Amino acid sequence: MVTSEKNIQMIMELADAFGPSGFEDDVLTVARKWAEGLGTIEEDHMRNLYIHRKENTGNKPVIMLDAHSDEVGFMIHSIKPNGTLRFVTLGRFANIAMSSADVLVRNALGEYIPGVIAAKPVHFMSESERAKGGVPEISSMVIDIGATSAEEAVNRFHIRIGEPGVPATKCRYDAENDVMFGKGFDCRIGCAAVIETLRRLEGMDLPCDVIGVLSSQEEVGERGCKVSVKHANPSIAFVFEGCPADDTFTEPYAIQTALKKGPMLRFMDVSVICSPRYQRYVLDLASEKGIAAQASVREGGGNNGAIINTALDGTPVVVAGVPTRYIHSMNCITSGYDFEETVKLAVATVTSMTPEQIAKF
Ligand SMILES: [Zn+2]
Repeated sequence: MVTSEKNIQMIMELADAFGPSGFEDDVLTVARKWAEGLGTIEEDHMRNLYIHRKENTGNKPVIMLDAHSDEVGFMIHSIKPNGTLRFVTLGRFANIAMSSADVLVRNALGEYIPGVIAAKPVHFMSESERAKGGVPEISSMVIDIGATSAEEAVNRFHIRIGEPGVPATKCRYDAENDVMFGKGFDCRIGCAAVIETLRRLEGMDLPCDVIGVLSSQEEVGERGCKVSVKHANPSIAFVFEGCPADDTFTEPYAIQTALKKGPMLRFMDVSVICSPRYQRYVLDLASEKGIAAQASVREGGGNNGAIINTALDGTPVVVAGVPTRYIHSMNCITSGYDFEETVKLAVATVTSMTPEQIAKF
């Protein structure tokens, strides 16, 4: 089963929201709208958002449902005399993903100005530049908003340094094939999963309290989570991610994160070994309940689970990633089915969790 139309709408609105690391405000506005009625919502100075279930008692162990609200983006570094904008990235992009992308840059008036990421056109490349495929370093690319001078960029377009930008991609949903195309599924599909999981738990009397957390600034080193984990003070955590799918360029035997095969639970990535007993418990729970899930051993990556695992007293963590093709690019692909299976697994985990069970991890 794919997920509901309402959930698709929520994912699309969250994915389209403007929110590079440090500038998650618009994402939180959208999240607050969809989380309305679930409980008490609070926000800290780092733009971490906390959704406390209204059924929470305050005296039970806390399950933290985490997703990060930021996306990879950029920040204006300086304005060149010709009106183009030098920028730095917030998070990591591949060079090849950047060239000729449509982007939006926020200006001093809070408007989103369209631009393109520009590099030297092929006509002006030297023989050796052309031989390299013509993909320059990100540091030599600029954002072109169509200004003809620095003066125009400042006075007409109201650009100033320090302003953030993101890909301009608008999310589209192919309902017939249950495929979504867009930016920022890493980790807005996770944010949507936090909200939908809380929605499905509404009214239930549970052995643990549950706090949904949308942590900021993950893409620049899990900075928001370093603060949010202390505030949420969890006994256990279920972390959502939009995680890189590997099914379009990996040898079949090694594919561990395929589209439409359910959430990916990593045994490890370079930042964390997900609590082995808890990881096995969740994978067993998935097969017991007939929920699709995939297991992986990541050779790269990093995520908030690492922070949560080591910030307090060794909080057990698992990370459920919704497979997303081409993350950290301008055009990513994910599916409603994988979202639905991820939420189901989170609900099954939370509803089965007891203080006694946590003690066994
Ligand atoms: Zn992520």
